[in-house]
Amino acid sequence: KRMTQMTYRDVTREREITENLERSTAELQRLNQMKDSFLGLASHELKTPLTVILGYSDILLDEMADVVGEEALPMLQHIDEAANRLSNIVRDMVDVSMLDSHALRLRERVVDINEVIRQALKEIEYFFTVRKQSHELRLAEHLPLIKCDPDRLVQVITNLVVNSIKFTPDGGRITVETRLSYRLKYMGERDEEENDDWRRIGRAPAPFVEILINDTGIGIDGADQVRVFEKFYEVGIIEEHSTGKVAFKGKGTGLGLTIVKGIVEMHGGEVWVESPGCDPDHFPGSTFHILLPIPSES
Ligand code: ADP
Repeated sequence: KRMTQMTYRDVTREREITENLERSTAELQRLNQMKDSFLGLASHELKTPLTVILGYSDILLDEMADVVGEEALPMLQHIDEAANRLSNIVRDMVDVSMLDSHALRLRERVVDINEVIRQALKEIEYFFTVRKQSHELRLAEHLPLIKCDPDRLVQVITNLVVNSIKFTPDGGRITVETRLSYRLKYMGERDEEENDDWRRIGRAPAPFVEILINDTGIGIDGADQVRVFEKFYEVGIIEEHSTGKVAFKGKGTGLGLTIVKGIVEMHGGEVWVESPGCDPDHFPGSTFHILLPIPSES
């Protein structure tokens, strides 16, 4: 009983700890805000000079190759490649900071999701060939139309499929599927049993268009399946696969899935990943799911 009695020293110590904790929390919040505004500022400041570099290197490469000369041409190509890479990183940074500050605006239209998927795959066809990977489309017919920003959804799909290509060995397979899916609740609740139990709860489930992107790649551990959507998060990168055949590398920003999640949630949807785990020797694969709400008049 005496143990539970707090002495004056205990109380003082406890207060000190609480105060310290409050101070560090406030400091962390301040640093986090600084990081976010830096992200926004830096990316916008980088955009203009990059446009100049890319603009001129494109002109030099496309129209003035003879003036540039044989010796300088490979250097110019390196500059152009690096500038393009940098420009992709900056674009991701701008997107994340716009999502953070709620400055991103959707240009919504009523569209057939299958068309959006076909468009996205056309843009990245080349990567499949390079990696000798096959891809399969299993698109449901007669899906209801949805209201969305098709350009942003093309960005979401290409992002996810390019990830699949990146983390799947040569010769692997990537499948993109669409289907009609009825869900009672979707945000954070994917319990199939509860979904089937909707009669008991007395509310009708809502219809969604579901997109599934499945690969035969290295997979993602359970503990990482939520974290991969966090800003700057990358799973410990495997530099070189043990067989020496494949190098699984991130493109190094860890922002791709953060943007995917941000855009999908702006559409009132949800995205998550399922995988038996990460195994770079046996390739258990991953499946990314996207749910997009179907407007009631559709
Ligand atoms: P990055 O821009 O670095 O690719 P992302 O946000 O797109 O970052 O992805 C974060 C991390 O999630 C990746 O670095 C990778 O470890 C993991 N990841 C994403 N997609 C897949 C996939 N299809 N298979 C296995 N791991 C994946």
